[in-house]
Amino acid sequence: MLLIKNGRVLDPASGIDGVMDLLLEGDVIREMGENLSGEPALDATGLVVAPGLIDTHVHFRDPGYTHKETLHTGALAAARGGFTSVVCMANTNPVTDSPARLQEILRRAEKEDVRIYQAAAVTLGLEGKVLTDFAALKQAGAACFSDDGVPITDSALVRKAMEQIAALDGVLCLHEEDPALVGSAGVNAGTVAQTLGLSGAPAYSESSLIARDCMLALATGARVVIQHISTKAGVDMVRFARSLGAKVEAEATPHHFSMTQEAVLELGTLAKMNPPLRAEEDRLAVMQGLADGTINLIATDHAPHSAEEKARDFSQAPSGILGLETALAVGITYLVEPGHLTLGQLIEKMSTNPARIYGLKGGTLRPGGTADLVLFHPKETWKVEGFASKSSNSPFLHKTLTGKVRATVCRGKVVFQSDAT
Ligand SMILES: [Zn+2]
Repeated sequence: MLLIKNGRVLDPASGIDGVMDLLLEGDVIREMGENLSGEPALDATGLVVAPGLIDTHVHFRDPGYTHKETLHTGALAAARGGFTSVVCMANTNPVTDSPARLQEILRRAEKEDVRIYQAAAVTLGLEGKVLTDFAALKQAGAACFSDDGVPITDSALVRKAMEQIAALDGVLCLHEEDPALVGSAGVNAGTVAQTLGLSGAPAYSESSLIARDCMLALATGARVVIQHISTKAGVDMVRFARSLGAKVEAEATPHHFSMTQEAVLELGTLAKMNPPLRAEEDRLAVMQGLADGTINLIATDHAPHSAEEKARDFSQAPSGILGLETALAVGITYLVEPGHLTLGQLIEKMSTNPARIYGLKGGTLRPGGTADLVLFHPKETWKVEGFASKSSNSPFLHKTLTGKVRATVCRGKVVFQSDAT
């Protein structure tokens, strides 16, 4: 048993927003209400108690790149960030493109403190040529299908993938950057790229591929997630496609709604990621898309790299930054505090919607339901110093943010607790 006392329970899925107690038994919520009793008790006075956060886009680098992250260190980072479920991308080494490889990861993930789901590759070896066996991979437990990191350029192959995945009622997640139009990855084409002597990745390298895939989604009826959307035209395109009836969802990362390309000048490779940080009008469009519901998912694209790798010259360093341990605070600091989203809307995009769209456990708090939750102080400010992740490539290092995770409970067990709680 575990009693969580006197917190502000905030669950957009059920419409609950009020101070009450929760009594957990095993991995389920047994009771919610006033003046409950039980031992041990966790005092949540002044804290928000929300369904555990769910990140549908992380890279735990395991197997293949375990000097950057492992299933274990990734799980620690997730718990510290308030996440109780994550979906790992398939660009492991070897690529997660067979049921055997997928099941091997899921088997090892079972002993971790948070729920680790795994995406399966769309094409064998992420080569963009031959489709994987979607039915077998879904049967083996694939949470979704994605070649994330490697955009699929063959339009007919994308159409075929959508047709097959639609027939299985699966989810196809797409990284949208046309490689033929990307001059140099990781920095937006424009004045900042020019300063570095690079051509950069133009906004239309993303928006043109989003346009193609929105129209293919409309034609095939497939459920598609546009990953880490970063451009104004891309957001407009998703809004338009949905108005036509396409089953298109979009993710935004915390970095794309909080930073612009100018951050590259200050932070160098810590601000290098794909797609890159864009112009201010793009950042504002991503925030608008979040506010009006065009963008239903906030996902971090948690992408650990070692200090040695990120110390290389900008053009040689790998793209990607950490996300799990700062995501909630970046959301509160840049979306909730300025009034773009309510706290409830933020939780919707970080828990309710990911659970619904991907069919995952959690995402709501109700008696008899899953005991996955996060306790956080919505107003506490803190300085980002150090990570549970194996890597530390975060542009938010040494920055002050608002909103602090105090405890994370997964399967009814406290898997992270800050000193202050
Ligand atoms: Zn990606």
